[in-house]
Amino acid sequence: MDSNVPGLSQVILRKLNMRNYEEYRAALDGNKATPDFGIRTYFEMFQKMEDTFKFCVECKKLPENLSDPRSLRRCKRCQNVYYCSSECQRANWPIHKKFCKKLQLAATDRLVEWLVFTGDIPFPTEHWEKPVTEVTGWNDWFSMQDSLQEKLDNIMTGRYMNILWANAGKPRPEEKDLLESVKRLMSDFLSRPLTIGFGLKAFNVDPYAGPITVHVVGASHIETLNTRVTDYDELAQMFPGNQGIEVVMVGPEVVDGPLMRPPLAAFGPRGRVYLSSYRGLYHVFWETLVESKQAARPNLVVGFHPGFHASQGLTEGWLPTLLLLRDYNLPTIFTVYNEQELKYSLQILAELEACILSHGPNPFASLKLDQVQSDPNKPPVHSNAYQIQFLGLAGVEQDEDMQDLDEEA
Ligand SMILES: [Zn+2]
Ligand SMILES: [Zn+2]
Repeated sequence: MDSNVPGLSQVILRKLNMRNYEEYRAALDGNKATPDFGIRTYFEMFQKMEDTFKFCVECKKLPENLSDPRSLRRCKRCQNVYYCSSECQRANWPIHKKFCKKLQLAATDRLVEWLVFTGDIPFPTEHWEKPVTEVTGWNDWFSMQDSLQEKLDNIMTGRYMNILWANAGKPRPEEKDLLESVKRLMSDFLSRPLTIGFGLKAFNVDPYAGPITVHVVGASHIETLNTRVTDYDELAQMFPGNQGIEVVMVGPEVVDGPLMRPPLAAFGPRGRVYLSSYRGLYHVFWETLVESKQAARPNLVVGFHPGFHASQGLTEGWLPTLLLLRDYNLPTIFTVYNEQELKYSLQILAELEACILSHGPNPFASLKLDQVQSDPNKPPVHSNAYQIQFLGLAGVEQDEDMQDLDEEA
C-alpha cells in the first residue's frame, strides 16, 4: 500500500474494513499477510470509500447483482444514495425526500473527515478566555477562537482540500456549505475531550487543585486507532495552567499505537494532557494496576457510546464494570447516540440501582452527520449526542423514604 498518501490506510480501516476489523488487526499483529488493498492514488481511495455506499437504496441490490453495474445512479441532490433504476428512484422519493438534504451534508462530512487524517483539522486552538461554566456549546467555543476566519480559510484553501475535491468524484460544495462542514468536523474531533471537560465540571473536579486522572472505559479502535498523543490537548486549553490531566484508555479493543504506554502512577505533567492506555477489561485493569497503585484512581470515568443498552452480552462485558463504577462511587459520564439508547441505558442503570444524577443532550455533541449506512433514509446520528451522569448507589434517598414510611406506620 502506498504510504505516501496520508490517511490512506486509516481511511480504509475506518471506512472500509470495520466489518473485517478483527482480520485487519490480526494482519497488523503479524498473524497474517497484510492485505493489499491495491490502492495507489487519491482517486482510487475516494472511489473505494464510496463503493461501500453503492447499493440501490430502494431494492437493496448491490452493483454486482445488476446486469450493468454502471447503471447504478446517484441522487443528484444529495450526491449520496444510489438507485438501480428510475423506477426505484421514484418509488423511494416519498421517503428519501425527508432525508435528502441532511444526507447531502453527511456525504460532504464523510469526505471532509479525510482532512482530520491529513492534519488540516483541527486548526490550532486557543486557551479558553471564558470560565468553563460560560461556554455552553459550540457557538461559544468558536467565538473564543482568535482569527477564526483566517484559520478556516487556511483549511479551505489548503493543499489537501484541493486534492480532495479534485479526486472525490463529486462536485465541490458551495464555499459556505463546505465551511460549515469543516466546523462540524472540528466539533467531531473535539467532542470527546470537551465531553470529558464537561464531565469534570459537572462533578466539580478541579484540575487546578491537583493532577487529575480520567479513565475512558470500553475504549476501542474508535478511540485509539490513529489517535495521536495530542488529540485531547483541548482539555489543557480548557483548563490552562492545570496541575496535569491524564486520560487512560481502557478496553479489550485498545489498538497498538503511540497511546500504548502505561498509565501514570501519580503526577501528570503540569499544564498538559497525558494519554496512556491499557488493553483489557476495566475490572481487570482495576485489580491489577489501580489496586496495586501502579495507576492512579480516577477523578472521572467516561464511556463514549458504551453500548451496554444492547443488553446481549451485558453480563460478560459491561456488568462487572458497571458494578465496579457503582460500588466504588466513581463519578461517571456515559454518552449515547440517540434518545432511544438514552432510555434503554437509563433503564439498565436504574435496574442496577445506580444513582443517576443527570441526563440529557450533551452541549458538546458532535455536529458531524453520520448516516445509517445500511439504511440511509433515516435521521443521521451525532456522536456523543446525549449524556448520562451517575455516581454510586441510589441507596441514600431510598433509605430516607423507608424511614418516612416507618414513621408513618
Ligand atoms: Zn433498485
Ligand atoms: Zn438525495
